[in-house]
Order: sequence, then structure tokens, then C-alpha cells
Amino acid sequence: MSASSCAACGFANPAGALFCGNCGSPLGRPCPSCGTVVSPELAFCTSCGASLEEVERVAAEERKVVTAVFVDLVGFTRRSERLDPEDVRGFLAPRARPNGLPTRTAGKVAPQVGGQ
Ligand SMILES: [Zn+2]
Ligand SMILES: [Zn+2]
Repeated sequence: MSASSCAACGFANPAGALFCGNCGSPLGRPCPSCGTVVSPELAFCTSCGASLEEVERVAAEERKVVTAVFVDLVGFTRRSERLDPEDVRGFLAPRARPNGLPTRTAGKVAPQVGGQ
């Protein structure tokens, strides 16, 4: 591979570039063992020799702990029928982000708003 195009801006960077010359986005991936940014085509880290493919495979199979919270707002349907759509959205928005907890634990919120 002679040039690596930036996934963020599409700029064609010279071979071996680890960061985009146009927008500064990383073009490589960090070695999970030592953190050195290396070219995505490499199978082993050029700094510490760790296998990048093996670590990537294991990471892809990582088991994760998730927390699922199901909330039913009493009287929501009756209430939302009387409100404008913008007011319904304003009513729901703060309830879809529970107290910043996922941010503190590097988690993500995948809200599913709406009835079935
Ligand atoms: Zn770029
Ligand atoms: Zn390394």
C-alpha cells in the first residue's frame, strides 16, 4: 500500500504516515501493549514486538458487563397526546441521560425511546 487515505477527511497521505497531514487524525492504531501508534498494515508492533492481530482478535471477543434499564413513564401516552412534539421531546431529553453515570465509567447510553 503506497498511500493511506484519512478516514476523517479523505486526504491521501504519504506511505507510512501515522497522522493525517491535513486534519491531524490518527491513521494508525495504538499498540495495545505499549501504546505506540503504528501503521494499520503491520502485524506486529515496531516498538515492542507485540502481535497486533492476536490482541485485536482477543479484543473483538471481549466479554462486557452491561446494565439494562427499562423505564415506563406513568401516563406518558395520555400526556404526550396533549403536547406538541417539541414539548414531548423536551420532556424526554433529560430522562434519556441518567445522571452522567455512563460518562464516569466510560460507558455508553443507547436510549430506546418510544413504545412498541
Ligand atoms: Zn484527515
Ligand atoms: Zn507495542
